[in-house]
Amino acid sequence: MAVLDVLKMGNPLLRKTSIAVGNELHTLDFQKAIDAMIDTMRFTNGVGIAAPQVGILKRVFLMENFENPRYPEKNSFPLYIAINPEIEVLDDTLVDSWEGCLSIPAIRGKLKRCKSVVLKAIDRDGNPFQETLEGFASIVAQHELDHLNGILLIDRMDSMETLTFQEEYEKYWI
Ligand code: ZN
Repeated sequence: MAVLDVLKMGNPLLRKTSIAVGNELHTLDFQKAIDAMIDTMRFTNGVGIAAPQVGILKRVFLMENFENPRYPEKNSFPLYIAINPEIEVLDDTLVDSWEGCLSIPAIRGKLKRCKSVVLKAIDRDGNPFQETLEGFASIVAQHELDHLNGILLIDRMDSMETLTFQEEYEKYWI
């Protein structure tokens, strides 16, 4: 298992726009980097991770939620490996979303996301796929795509009043 360091807010790399993945997708190094991102996401109890969070400025994110202790009340969804992802909004109804981020540890903040999206990407073998995502999966995909454009969850918050430590989130907001 290869667990990588996750960059924390303040690292300028988190504010860069990542570039599209080309033929390097099929190299052993790139495939190993994807495996290391999976290990890192699972080890840190993340429900998603984007390549820039491990210092790789390429358009790749992963997402998965299965009995995650950080989000026990949320619906499960399978592992998606999304390369050169695009998101099309299916239902632009805005829903409240309390989010955390591996790059902003032990903090939650409330923002709004679109209710339902279609995720279009290629998988690790280069095959295109698309998935209709709702609920938590839709929110995670929007959060991870933001990372590829240098956007963090705090940028999406209407008010800093809900910028909350995890412990206070559990005490006052759940
Ligand atoms: Zn994040």
